[in-house]
Order: sequence, then C-alpha cells, then structure tokens
Amino acid sequence: MVELTGLSQPELISFVETLGEPAYRGRQLFAALQHRRLRSFDEISDFPKDLRARLNEIACPATLKIESKYESADGTRRYLMKTHDGLPVETVFIPEERRDTICFSSQSGCPLQCTFCLTAQLGLLRSLTAGEIVEQIVIALNDAYGTGVKLPRGTNLVAMGAGEPLLNLDALLKALRVMADPQGLHIVANRVTVSTAGVVPRILDLARTTDRPHLAISLAAPTDELRNTLMPINKKWPLEELLDACKVFEKTLKPGERLTFEYVMLDGVNDSDEQARQLANLLNRHGIRSKVNLIPHNPADPLPYQPSSSETVERFKNILESKGIHTYVRRPRGRDIFAACGQLAARQNTLSNLTSIGANN
Ligand code: SAH
Repeated sequence: MVELTGLSQPELISFVETLGEPAYRGRQLFAALQHRRLRSFDEISDFPKDLRARLNEIACPATLKIESKYESADGTRRYLMKTHDGLPVETVFIPEERRDTICFSSQSGCPLQCTFCLTAQLGLLRSLTAGEIVEQIVIALNDAYGTGVKLPRGTNLVAMGAGEPLLNLDALLKALRVMADPQGLHIVANRVTVSTAGVVPRILDLARTTDRPHLAISLAAPTDELRNTLMPINKKWPLEELLDACKVFEKTLKPGERLTFEYVMLDGVNDSDEQARQLANLLNRHGIRSKVNLIPHNPADPLPYQPSSSETVERFKNILESKGIHTYVRRPRGRDIFAACGQLAARQNTLSNLTSIGANN
C-alpha cells in the first residue's frame, strides 16, 4: 500500500503516471487530499469510479484512526489516535482569538528521559512518517471546522507534542514542504515552530535549511549540573555546546525573528532568584537574539514536581527582564484533559470531567 498523505504534488503526479493516468489526475488527487482534506478515495467524486476502485486497491489516503477526543473547558481539544500498527499519536488543537494553533507529535512516545515530562514514560515507540504528521493537521482541522471547510483564521503549527522533532528531522521537513504547497493546506514554514530538547547537530542542519521553521529550545535549567538531572540529553550536548549551536542558528534569523528558549517552572527546583540570575547571565554571555517563555509546570500524578507559584513565576520574570531578557509567561491550555505541555502520554480517561467522544475518520 502506498501512503499518499505524505507525498508532494510532483510525487503524486509521478504516482498516477505509473498507473497510466495523466498528470492532471495527480494534481486533482493532491487537491483532494490536502486542500479539500478528504480522507477516502470514495469522496473524490470528480474521479471515475474505476479509478477510485483501483486506488483503493493499491494506496491509502489516510492511515491514522481517531480513538478518542477530549475537549477542555477552555476549548482546547486533544485527539488520541492510533497508527496502522497500533501505536498512539496525540495532537492538540488550541483555538485562539485570531488564529488556531495545532500542536502535533513527531514521534510515538519519546526516547528522551526528561524527568518532568509524562511522554518520557512511554519510551520511544517509533518516529512518525511525513504522512502521519500531515494527517494530524488534517484531522484536527476537519474536526474543528468540517471536512474541506475553508478555515476562518490562520493556523500556526508547533512541533511540541510527543517526541523529539529533531530526531525525526527528515520526515518533519518533508511534511512541512507538503503542507506549505499553496494548492494544498498552504501552511508555510514561517507559521511553524519546532521545539527541541537540544539535538545539537540537527540544530546546525536546520540552520542550513532554506524555508526553515522557527526554533524553540527547551532549557529547563541554567546550569549543567541541574540540567543533567532534569534532561539527560544534556550529558550528550551540554549547555555551552547547545548555546554555541544557537549562536550559529542566530545568524539565520530574519529581521524581527527571535530564537525562543522554553523554561518549565518547577517549584523549588529551578525557580529561585539565584537561578533567574544564572539564566540571564548564561543567555547574556552568549548574546543570542532570543526570548524566554516561562511555562508553568503541568503536573501529572507520576511526576515528582509541582508548578511554581504565580508569584514566583512573576519574580523570576522580573529578574530576567531587569537583565534585558525578553520574557513571557505561557498560559497553560487544556490541563484538565491532559493536553498541556508534557502531559501527552496516551491517557484514555483519567479524570471524571472528561468528555470522551468516540470519533471515527
Ligand atoms: N522534545 C521537544 C518537544 C516536546 S516538549 C522538546 O523537548 O522541546 C514541548 C515543551 O513542553 C518543552 O519545552 C518541554 O520542556 C515542555 N514540557 C515538558 N513537560 C512539561 C510539563 N510537565 N509541564 C510544562 N511543560 C513541560
């Protein structure tokens, strides 16, 4: 079976040509899958019946199955899906006033062992294909607005779901190229932010990529000593190497663009005044055009941390700002349905106020 959702328009044209069909059928197929966001050949009514039947035999237009959908009091929706080989994939749709943000997964599970993140407990199941990445966006948009319905506002994408995107960079970039096509979803790289725990060689690769997405780096600690305990990847690529790579990446920033540093705030662990000063000094010493997003920790039962109080977060922010660092505090979304940062661990229904709606493709 050929999976079609991860193929670019030229690739779909070659594909239909191998079936003896003219090139325009490939363009129609691309528009059907990406622009009209159809997930079955039978819905492509402008295709002759026998062509649809042939396609059904040799190719698949959709592989992910929606297992459950959870909707938060704040409008955030979390989708728990399964791959064709039965692995969990999670996607979060976050409506905002002027745009929507879709947080997608790059891997099923995650190989990194960050101690504050629930996804770590799944381990790595496997990396997702480009098609599985594109499908997550199609499914979320169709559920929010209806199949093929024109989108009422812009869509931003963040690779901040399960997995480490820079350990699946080829598939990720392929998916982004497919989604950028103006005759398809038309979500361009400039609307996409990729978050990494700090895979240094891939940060350097990304810096060399044209039409690259924005980059965010998960720091979580201002010193190697602490970061080694929170994010074991730091033992492989410690802070100095990571920030040197960020400095290289900085040279590719466009006017007005900043590198983002994410800092999850863990009560009594990384949120002291001293640690705020250490963080400011670290960033200032490297002089990178950047901003810091403080993310209040999203607690979960098996995790040994509590979120910092809002006063502590505010104080931490003020110290960073007093040292010239642009700092923002992220408002957690979808905590009640286990959709917030670090909470994606294929949870089925752990809270009583969940609305689980069995949804099918
Ligand atoms: N592997 C990538 C992308 C996924 S995590 C990365 O590490 O960047 C996306 C963001 O959520 C990261 O900044 C991470 O530090 C943060 N995060 C993880 N667990 C969290 C938790 N329990 N509460 C708040 N933020 C968390």
